[in-house]
Amino acid sequence: MSYSRTCIQCGTAIVSRSDKRYCSNPCRHLASNVIKQQNQHERRILSINAALRNNRSILKQLSPQGKTTILRQYLELEGFDFRYLTQIYRT
Ligand SMILES: [Zn+2]
Repeated sequence: MSYSRTCIQCGTAIVSRSDKRYCSNPCRHLASNVIKQQNQHERRILSINAALRNNRSILKQLSPQGKTTILRQYLELEGFDFRYLTQIYRT
């Protein structure tokens, strides 16, 4: 039995007896690379969110009232990641 479907990468018609999802190896590789890039992007977002969560936890621990002045070294000792900030209070 033969049936027609389209490549999920480029939309080209695939006529085959199998349940192939891609028309060619280049399309299969391209789709695989796109998925890998999406996974890397999602892992990076998770990593940044974890760093922000850790930073907030450190700030909450060192400044339970929500506002204080503290030396940078104390934040560094606790593992504060200065690459990721959501807000800076300038005086
Ligand atoms: Zn294709």
